[in-house]
Amino acid sequence: MEIKLDELKVLYSEEEIHSKIKELAKTLNNIYKGEEVVAICVLKGAVIFATDLVRELDMPVQMEFIRLSSYGSDTQTSGKVNAVDIKLPDLNNKNVLIIEDIVDTGLTAKFLVDFIHMNFHVKTFNFCSLLDKKATRKVDVKPDYYCFDVDDKFVVGYGLDYDGYFRNLKYIGYKEF
Ligand code: 5GP
Repeated sequence: MEIKLDELKVLYSEEEIHSKIKELAKTLNNIYKGEEVVAICVLKGAVIFATDLVRELDMPVQMEFIRLSSYGSDTQTSGKVNAVDIKLPDLNNKNVLIIEDIVDTGLTAKFLVDFIHMNFHVKTFNFCSLLDKKATRKVDVKPDYYCFDVDDKFVVGYGLDYDGYFRNLKYIGYKEF
């Protein structure tokens, strides 16, 4: 498959994204009530979402980054999660908030949930995702919080790429076939 910029249709606009992120931040601010949080951004796809979200949070935030990969150079997941870089500080007794771009098959989310719980006794754990693609789920996992549903289509923009491109789009788009 090839995707060109002028073929993309807008699924969620910049305005819709920003207003949902503000809503999600309000929910999180109410949950944590000023308690410190370790926000873990899953690179590379969640980088734009995470940087917008954390700036709406009003508690002290320790920001960490990990890098996982499961997609190849096309639009199909490899079905295998690679921990490219998963160095984390001590998360024992911390409020841990994972920030992911999209939960698709759920393999990455499951890998991360298991990894954190196997290695740390966290105080609280929440998994938030910009997008939830429920139709393609392969394992029993769901984000605690998410901004938008996506049906079974490959989306790009606002951090999500196709072969490294389109992460810089202000909207979330897709190519119609
Ligand atoms: P999983 O299948 O493990 O739930 O998703 C793994 C990763 O695949 C996501 O974090 C995301 O980076 C990528 N991914 C899944 N669906 C899409 C999609 O529709 N578009 C893009 N660009 N990446 C996706």
